[in-house]
Amino acid sequence: MTDKYAVIGHPISHSKSPLIHQAFALQTRQDISYQAIEAPLDGFKSTIERLVSEGYRGCNVTVPFKFEALKLCKQLTGRAQAAQAVNTLFFRDGDILGDNTDGVGLLADIEQNLACKLLFKRVLLLGAGGAAHGVIWQIFNAGATITVANRTLEKAQQMVSEFAPYGTVIASTFEGLEGKSFDVVINATSSSLANELPPLPKGLFKHKSLAYDMMYGKQTPFLKFAAEQGASQCTDGLGMLVEQAAEAFFKWREVRPETAAVIAQLRK
Ligand code: NDP
Repeated sequence: MTDKYAVIGHPISHSKSPLIHQAFALQTRQDISYQAIEAPLDGFKSTIERLVSEGYRGCNVTVPFKFEALKLCKQLTGRAQAAQAVNTLFFRDGDILGDNTDGVGLLADIEQNLACKLLFKRVLLLGAGGAAHGVIWQIFNAGATITVANRTLEKAQQMVSEFAPYGTVIASTFEGLEGKSFDVVINATSSSLANELPPLPKGLFKHKSLAYDMMYGKQTPFLKFAAEQGASQCTDGLGMLVEQAAEAFFKWREVRPETAAVIAQLRK
């Protein structure tokens, strides 16, 4: 029997996750279906309950439901616990279990696909929502020093507070970035979804800086700004999307798909 999976978000029509998981299933000969489902903003829990009752095996969770997903879980992996956000759910015997594959996905894309090692790099992480929570632990573990800048400063402060005893992690407003520069700047805000640029000061990018927008599939205002400001490498989040999906697929199906061909296929 075909095992059913889905991605839940709001909005969701732009999602490439169904294409990616179908490509993985074909490649690894897994009998699964995978669809995109838009939950109403006040209807995430009831949507998940419906999927469980209809016999789905699991789902991915995207903007803006990653914190709500955490609250629904009976059990969490260590990385979901560290992130305090969940992007992958497993439905087993009536229980909901949560994982977070965003950090692994981002690291695989930056360090392996883009060959940019983060050890001792100065990383600026923009945003303090579900996506930023999902990746900060892995960036920290890779040996980078991190500044988290967010529109709402308190959320950035809350996010960095647990890391402060172990290394350099600073919270900032966007204005507070004036006069600073970074090796890697990651846009984990949802500003690109609205085709907006966070109010960033000039001078953030050095000649060899990497600008990374987690949004994918278009030239975002952030990537345009970074290129104009002299970042040498500007990339969207398509590689991360495929890598985090591969990790979720591996955890669900216990078979690891190849990612390079799928990334190349989607880039076309
Ligand atoms: P959330 O809704 O959880 O968080 C949104 C964040 O963006 C908050 O920090 C919010 O700030 C900030 N923000 C929203 N609008 C603006 C704006 N106009 N200017 C500045 N800051 C803004 O979303 P997620 O964290 O789940 O997702 C963020 C983005 O990352 C989305 O675009 C999503 O598609 C992408 N993503 C991509 C992935 C990939 O695999 N490529 C994986 C995960 C996410 P405040 O706290 O002040 O409200």
